[in-house]
Amino acid sequence: KIRFEDVVKQFGDNVVLDHLNFTVDRGEKVTLIGPSGSGKTTILRLLMTLEKVNEGVIWVDDDPFSHEMRKGALTPASEKYLRQARRKIGMVFQHFNLFPNMTVIENLTEGPVHVLGRSKDEAVDRGRKLLDMVGLAEKENAHPSQLSGGQQQRVAIARALAMDPEILLLDEVTSALDPELVVGVLNVLRDIAHSTDITMLIVTHEMQFARDVSDRILMFDKGRIIEEGAPEQIFTEPRNDRTRTFLHAVI
Ligand code: ATP
Repeated sequence: KIRFEDVVKQFGDNVVLDHLNFTVDRGEKVTLIGPSGSGKTTILRLLMTLEKVNEGVIWVDDDPFSHEMRKGALTPASEKYLRQARRKIGMVFQHFNLFPNMTVIENLTEGPVHVLGRSKDEAVDRGRKLLDMVGLAEKENAHPSQLSGGQQQRVAIARALAMDPEILLLDEVTSALDPELVVGVLNVLRDIAHSTDITMLIVTHEMQFARDVSDRILMFDKGRIIEEGAPEQIFTEPRNDRTRTFLHAVI
């Protein structure tokens, strides 16, 4: 479970998140939509501890981890919060960020062996199952540079899942791909959304995908949530004029 409590994030004078409050329940699939610059990516980066909040608290389950970060020097207790929270979260970025010098299967086993302390055999076993799930079983010994962008992104998804995250953050994972490669990646994500109880927080411009996988849509504008609801409601009868204008422009 994720909770943003009165979170403010600014870059200089630019208030990117303006006293933001929202909760994502365990297992829920939530998509963030809204115009460019409305703060969606910043939310994911805060959760990944790539940024710090200026005000407010981010909770992951019972760990108030971003609050602890803001205080500066971490106490042993706050380091524990941070580690516990961070450990539960996996992220897939727009650019694939695979380890270029490792084979596909090595990319998938590195974290489980070195961070989770799994045995090599166990990690390889699980890695192969995940590769099978993303349709790349035959590529385990390839290097990332030998794969298409869509294949690399499917490996990145498998790599995130190999760490058994409770929460998966997806940041515009198809926007750097050639159009013909997008479908394969979205199909894999659709399967994951429908077949696992992983909490998913998704930023995407693929509105049909958002509609298929989301329990709830949050519409952002200027660092605030201006509308939220079930996909059916948001996409067919948006209540807010800015939501309507935004959807007209992107669909
Ligand atoms: P997009 O759909 O274009 O990715 P977004 O809703 O994800 O947009 P963010 O990437 O969260 O928006 O950016 C929100 C605002 O924060 C923008 O005005 C951006 O210029 C600013 N911003 C983001 N990161 C930084 C940074 N590291 N330093 C300064 N400003 C930043």
